Amino acid sequence: MRPVKPPPFTYHRPESLPAALDVLADVGADGKVLAGGQSLLPILSMRLAAPEHLVDINRLPGLAQVTATPDGVRIGALVRHARLERDEDAARVQPLLRQALRLVAHPTIRNRGTGVGSLAHADPSGELTAVLALTGGTVTLASVAGRREVAAADFFVGPLESALAPGELAVEAFFPAFAAGTGTAFVEVSRRHGDYAVCGVAAAVTLTPDGELVSARTAYISMGPVPTVADLTDAASSGGWAGAGRAVGSLLEPEEDIHAGADYRAELGRVLTERALAQAAGRATAQTAGRATAQAAGRARGEAG
Ligand SMILES: Cc1cc2nc3c(=O)[nH]c(=O)nc-3n(C[C@H](O)[C@H](O)[C@H](O)COP(=O)(O)OP(=O)(O)OC[C@H]3O[C@@H](n4cnc5c(N)ncnc54)[C@H](O)[C@@H]3O)c2cc1C
Repeated sequence: MRPVKPPPFTYHRPESLPAALDVLADVGADGKVLAGGQSLLPILSMRLAAPEHLVDINRLPGLAQVTATPDGVRIGALVRHARLERDEDAARVQPLLRQALRLVAHPTIRNRGTGVGSLAHADPSGELTAVLALTGGTVTLASVAGRREVAAADFFVGPLESALAPGELAVEAFFPAFAAGTGTAFVEVSRRHGDYAVCGVAAAVTLTPDGELVSARTAYISMGPVPTVADLTDAASSGGWAGAGRAVGSLLEPEEDIHAGADYRAELGRVLTERALAQAAGRATAQTAGRATAQAAGRARGEAG
């Protein structure tokens, strides 16, 4: 890799959202948003992109909030990975976020990189892409023309390609909560700790209070151009977690690259699916047991009172 500096660009640092949208409208396809810079700056330094204008959004007010409600978790465009990872309310409402963020790069990168930037970057190896896909979340895009909300299924278009149009800024993302009785897990294999995963699986398993399977779903990173979502409920009902692992073979078409061959990736897909579903189911069971214990304690308190 040749050590180079970014090509020349004009730097903009707007102080308000309307000002940022005006600049983005002016520069159009010649501009790039700069958030945490953890993906953009390496790309510029390697001269894989040469935007004429960088629009730094770090001074925009009101975009650094995490809002957790029973419906889900909403994050503004300046919420850093580390901030979201530590947020107890967000972890309670949508535990998959913390489970995934622990696997994103290293703490120094998580201190600066943003969740919304990760989604906008649309790297099919980025953990949060799978979280947005599995939760059925949305990204809100703003421009001088107004706002639009894009569903995860439409947001990821291809590797490093999202539904963002020139002049648009992703202002927030929403990760819906799962139904009661759902356990989640994120498992992956990477060559070194903190590296992008060779294969990663996000899983959500929903059980009835009696432990019957309601749903088993997974989403994948590094296994195709966009994060694939699989509904493995039928396969898991008939063949258990191992059956669900075998079933993903026909759904995924991983490719070979410098990190791994296609066959190895497919095998990882099978093994990690089984592992992620079993872990998620264990957490669903613990949650159901916890609820039953709390209800029993509540009844006991009522009888005593
Ligand atoms: C060594 C290393 C290892 C890494 N490993 C991982 C990993 O394992 N998993 C992982 O998920 N990520 C990894 N990353 C990337 C990191 O998570 C980044 O934080 C993330 O990809 C982008 O967030 P950012 O805020 O830094 O975006 P930036 O780098 O500022 O921007 C990235 C791209 O998104 C666009 N963009 C950013 N924000 C917006 C917005 N609000 N609206 C419109 N466009 C926007 C930019 O224009 C640019 O094209 C790694 C990075 C490094 C340097």
